[in-house]
Amino acid sequence: MLPDLPLKRRGHDEERHLFASVVGAAERVTLSRSAFSATGREWPESPLLLRLRLARPELDEESAADVLAGSPIPVEAAATAVAVQGDRAALPDALRDAIRVRSRERSAGLDADEGSGASADIATGLLEIWREFDTPPGARAEVPLGPYFGWVATERRDAEPFITEVADLLRCPWQRFLRRELRILPPPDAGAALPSPDARLRGAVVHQILERVVEASYGAEASRDLGQRLRDAPIPVVWPSDAVLEEWTLAAAREVVRREGVAGEWLPALLARSLAPILARARALDEARGPRAYGAELDGGAELPGAGGRRVRFRVDRVEAADAAEGSSAAPVLVEYKSGRAFVDGVHPTTRTRRLVQTLARGEGVQVPAYLHTPGAAGARLVFLGPGLPDERRETEFDATDEAVLDAFRERTDAVFHALETGLRPPRLISDPGAASAGIGEACAFCEMQMACLQGDSAQLGRLRERVDAPSTALDAASLALLFGSPSNGSER
Ligand code: SF4
Repeated sequence: MLPDLPLKRRGHDEERHLFASVVGAAERVTLSRSAFSATGREWPESPLLLRLRLARPELDEESAADVLAGSPIPVEAAATAVAVQGDRAALPDALRDAIRVRSRERSAGLDADEGSGASADIATGLLEIWREFDTPPGARAEVPLGPYFGWVATERRDAEPFITEVADLLRCPWQRFLRRELRILPPPDAGAALPSPDARLRGAVVHQILERVVEASYGAEASRDLGQRLRDAPIPVVWPSDAVLEEWTLAAAREVVRREGVAGEWLPALLARSLAPILARARALDEARGPRAYGAELDGGAELPGAGGRRVRFRVDRVEAADAAEGSSAAPVLVEYKSGRAFVDGVHPTTRTRRLVQTLARGEGVQVPAYLHTPGAAGARLVFLGPGLPDERRETEFDATDEAVLDAFRERTDAVFHALETGLRPPRLISDPGAASAGIGEACAFCEMQMACLQGDSAQLGRLRERVDAPSTALDAASLALLFGSPSNGSER
């Protein structure tokens, strides 16, 4: 068998022969090679070219930069080529040229000074980001955290945010910035699963039904202002018959699927059917208590203590009279329904209160303390309708004596207002900065915005960890307070 194995030397001979054939095939031959891979790694030079250079030192040789200088290739490609070659000295000019040329084309007819000012700003910003990310690891501690760490400066000094914005900013400020301020959409995924009755669709339909159960007694013309509704007497909550409830659920499912732009004719029926157990639980809870309600999906606002009269707006799921008995005291209790998993659980109510304090840090359950800050509110109730929970643990009442909840909320909203006023939107890259084994942020696991985020970049995660251990600027400290609460709050770090 051995005589049949090809000799490696023969392969080299063949390559040399082919190379000699190519360079001898014409009077003038140009040989070119890639100096860098697509990811910027330097390719080793071919031994054939090395030998040619040694054998014929008089041959003309040009670098890629020489070639590109006289080339008609697009300016962006030229700047990219300079960057890939790692030519640090040439990159600023190449980048400025590319941006100047393209913005001149795009702003044809606009004020020339305005256009050139904007393009200079873009180039300066990109170069600053490049310098920040290109700094060698040993020198990174000196470099301030840049825009990808959330310093985006979209200031809103007149902010009166919605509670959903507060929740989003606590969950992950960078995710909120990408989705709602830059309005970035994730690219369509051709391999994605078929649409299904997911938590978002289920929650939207359940809330529509809960609203209709109460609002059917009020009519479409009734005011949706919480203050206005509280002037009238509350009305007993009466659920419709099973057949009518089924009809409402299917109509709501069709409406939600259409509004959300989800494909699949079969989806509304499937969605409606999947909601039967959740709605049965909501009905059973009402029938056990017999509540009277001022309305559902009403617009109100929480007045936060402190300077400047800060206010957080909300739309509350339902407002009930504190005492179910007709004719008795009718102070309002604001109710928040959750159709997904129970994030606040525990046999004893004090355990549930402690859990709520923890979940506020990531934006879950923030409606409860906001409702407690509503003028005239007697309390707030959190109701979980999802599976796997005994009925006696589905509802938890909170009132203004729950100081731990109120304090945690005030601390978090202080950080949120600071973020709105200064333009801070940091990414919540790590879950628990105090733990040596801290994992990635909890919201990251299913985040569609990962592509536009530093998540997964271990060098940048390392920078964030360094800043958590030793905040070096006011920006670092403010950003960490927003993400993880005050450094003194040991239970949450
Ligand atoms: S991947 Fe994580 S840190 Fe990045 S935007 Fe999403 S949730 Fe935020």
